[in-house]
Amino acid sequence: MKQNRKDFLKTGGLLVAGASAATIPVSSFAKNIIKSRGSKMKLSFKPYTLELKHVFTVAVNSRKTTPVMLTEIEYDGIKGYGEASMPPYLGESQETATAFLSKVDLEQFDDPFQMENILSYVDSIDSKNTAAKASVDIALHDLVGKLLNQPWYKIWGYDKSKTPDTTFTIGIDTAEVVRQKVKEAAEFKVLKVKLGKDNDKEMIETIRSVTDVPLTADANQGWKDKHQALDMINWLNEKNVLYVEQPLPKEMIEENAWITQNSPLPILGDESIQRLGDLIKMKDVYTGVVVKLMKCTGMREANKMISLAHSFNMKVMLGCMTETSCAISAASQLSPMADWADLDGALLIKNDPFEGMKVIDGKVTLTDYPGIGLKS
Ligand code: MG
Repeated sequence: MKQNRKDFLKTGGLLVAGASAATIPVSSFAKNIIKSRGSKMKLSFKPYTLELKHVFTVAVNSRKTTPVMLTEIEYDGIKGYGEASMPPYLGESQETATAFLSKVDLEQFDDPFQMENILSYVDSIDSKNTAAKASVDIALHDLVGKLLNQPWYKIWGYDKSKTPDTTFTIGIDTAEVVRQKVKEAAEFKVLKVKLGKDNDKEMIETIRSVTDVPLTADANQGWKDKHQALDMINWLNEKNVLYVEQPLPKEMIEENAWITQNSPLPILGDESIQRLGDLIKMKDVYTGVVVKLMKCTGMREANKMISLAHSFNMKVMLGCMTETSCAISAASQLSPMADWADLDGALLIKNDPFEGMKVIDGKVTLTDYPGIGLKS
C-alpha cells in the first residue's frame, strides 16, 4: 500500500524515537522536524540607518543615509535574518514598516516550510509595503535554508559558477569626483552610470576619459521626450553602453514602447515593473526587467518574475537598493539566473552589520553558508 506523507513522517518519528542513535542515523532535517514540534515562529524587528560612503545623486534626489529595518524570525532556537531597505522617494519609511510588521502574526503558523501560505498571508495584510514584506520573506528564507542546512541557490538548483559580474554605480557628480570614483572602481568589469539630468553626455565623456570598460545607463525616468531620449540612446550605443534602464517616466507606456522598438540597445523597465503582475502588463513595452527584492516583496516573487520574464524572452537584470549584505546576499542566491546584476548596494555603505556575498574580481561570489548565505 502506498504510504502518504503524513504516515511517512509519523513512522519516521516513531522509528527515530524508539531507536538508539547508534543503530539508526537521524538526519539533521529529521531532527529538526522532531525538535520543532510545538515550536512557534517569532518575528522581531529594529530600525537601522545606513551611512553612505559618498553622497548619492540620481535623477530624482540626493542623499547620504538610507533608512532600513532589520528583521529576525526565530524558530526553535534558530534565527533567520531579513531586511527592508527604504530609500525615501519610494514611499516606505521606518514608521510605515513598524506599523506593517506589528500586524504580522507568524505565531499562527507552526511550520516554517509552509512558505507559500505564510508569504501569501503576509502579502494580503496590505496592498503596499513591499520592502517591509520583503524583510519577512528574506528572514523566512534564511530560516528555512538554515533548517535544511543549505543555501537557497542549491535548494533552487542554480549553478553557483554562473553568477554574473555586478555593475558598480557611479552617481551623478562633478567631473573631478566622477573620475575619482571610477578609479576606485577599477575591480569592476562593468560600471553603471546614473543619467537623466542635463549633463548626461558630460558624465559619459568624463568616465570615458579614464576607462574603456562597458557601461550601463540608468535614466531613472529622467528623460521626458521620446525623440531626445532615442537620440541619446543612439549616442550611448557608440560609447559601449550595454543597456538603458527606464528612459522615460513609467506613465509614458506608448513612448517607452516606441523607444524599445527603435533602440539599438536593450531597454529595461525598472520603475515601471514592480511586481509579477506588472511584468505581464509590460512584457511588450521593454526588452527586459529590473527585478529587485524590495519592489516585489522578496525572494519568492523575484524567483517567479525571473522565470516568467525568461518565458517572455525578456532579459533580467537583478538590482538592489542601498542595502546591507543581508538583502544583497539574499538577492545573490537568484543571480545565477540573471542576465545582468547590479548588486553593489552593500559596497556603498560604511556600516554593514553582516558578512555574506562578496564581489571578487567584479563577480558576484556566493558563499556556502546556509539560508541566504550570511556568515553567522
Ligand atoms: Mg534603475
